[in-house]
Amino acid sequence: MRYVSTRNKNEHVSSAQAIERGLSGDGGLFVPEILPRLPKGAIGELCGMNYRQRAVYVMKLFLEDYTVAELTDFTNRAYGPEGFDTPRVAPVKKLDDTTHFLELWHGPTCAFKDMALQMLPYLLTAATAKNGETRKVCILVATSGDTGKAALEGFADVEGTRIMVFYPRDGVSDIQKLQMTSQEGSNVSVCAVNGNFDDAQTTVKEIFSDPELREELTDAGWMLSSANSINWGRLLPQIVYYISAYCDLLNSGDIHDGEKINFCVPTGNFGDILAGYYAMKMGLPVKRLICASNKNDVLTRFIKTGIYDRNRDFYTTISPSMDILVSSNLERLLFDLSGGDDNETAGYMEKLRDSGSYEISGKIKSALDAVFSAGSCDDNETKAVIARAFKEHKYLMDTHTAVAYGVLEKYRRETGDETRSVVVSTASPYKFCAAVLEALGETPAYTGPELIGQLESVSAVPAPAPLKALTGKTARFTKSLDKTELAAEVREFLK
Ligand SMILES: *Cc1c(COP(=O)(O)O)cnc(C)c1O
Repeated sequence: MRYVSTRNKNEHVSSAQAIERGLSGDGGLFVPEILPRLPKGAIGELCGMNYRQRAVYVMKLFLEDYTVAELTDFTNRAYGPEGFDTPRVAPVKKLDDTTHFLELWHGPTCAFKDMALQMLPYLLTAATAKNGETRKVCILVATSGDTGKAALEGFADVEGTRIMVFYPRDGVSDIQKLQMTSQEGSNVSVCAVNGNFDDAQTTVKEIFSDPELREELTDAGWMLSSANSINWGRLLPQIVYYISAYCDLLNSGDIHDGEKINFCVPTGNFGDILAGYYAMKMGLPVKRLICASNKNDVLTRFIKTGIYDRNRDFYTTISPSMDILVSSNLERLLFDLSGGDDNETAGYMEKLRDSGSYEISGKIKSALDAVFSAGSCDDNETKAVIARAFKEHKYLMDTHTAVAYGVLEKYRRETGDETRSVVVSTASPYKFCAAVLEALGETPAYTGPELIGQLESVSAVPAPAPLKALTGKTARFTKSLDKTELAAEVREFLK
């Protein structure tokens, strides 16, 4: 199985090369040349497996240059009991007759980023060995919150790696900040940037493309790599949980063999929902994928109109991980829907870069309409959804999950489609305590991890242990630097 760039199909690489490189040299993203199909009888077989075994089975279909023994070792370590608070790893919870929640936040950082970032370090370090790369890997991350902590937790004390995370000093929640600055491990570093997320991200990109620095680091035995969601190694582990959720519903008797279901996904960078699309293309019985946005509804408008337009206001919302105007993984969907047309895909991306917008062809639009629906919820609607689900079902959900559930309810009202649906739940409500407390009609009484106790006593829903353990923790990393000082900080870190 080979991987090609979405902007140039003549660029072929192996899976290990795709994972090591992250991004293709032409700016495109790596995708499998041919998407594997689930073999006949696979779903039945997967139903008899636990989550880790399912992950080995599904990932092996994409990773010819990794052995089953390797993948078994990786999944045991990535999804083991030290990191995940349930052996089910990604449990499906039933809300009512037609609605389920796929909870992807039982990992060490309590957000769905763990599903991929617990696995990526193993895929990446094995990839460098397979490719004959002798340098050690330094991961640089610019984060707006969830990715930084999940990447730190994934790479902490992984041999042959170091990781450095930059976050905007005043741009993350107190809980997110403490999660990162109290990170343990001998190969980690965390640093605040005096500026916003864009400042941090732009500077990190500059560091990546600085040839002088690269050469200097190569001489010192280091290569730079990234852990963001354009890497195939982050997307692949996400395909697993769609298939696993389907198996769980079959096992619980909620669906029959071959029955089609809907997934509704809170979407930012389009990675999570794209993994669902790939699962469907592999043969998973899916009827519709519903893309949920917050007030930054650039994707919802795109799915409804076929026009992607980032020239619009940016809003800060209570679901910050979906506050995004350019969804990089959409490029992979366009490539697939165009029938693998690299020129067409490259053309759209050029328009996006030059003018901030593009309109897809009629052919792609009809392919899109055949699978995707979309909707959005603003902050008030989101809070109302949290309050209602808690009152009626005693089910407590975070702000991102609530956007998705709210959009699913709207979709059902608008279309009358009562197909059994799975809402993808992407974070523990305890990561966003203040907004969840407000949704429940309470006034947040603190600013830091004390909020966790307040939400626990209001809801009587137990908080995850890793978040509770933040109380009393102090920051190991307190530096706060200007943009111009970051490259020197990287040099110093790798000395
Ligand atoms: C990252 C994130 C999302 C968005 O996922 P994408 O793959 O970027 O679409 C949604 N919810 C939470 C809690 C997240 O951390």
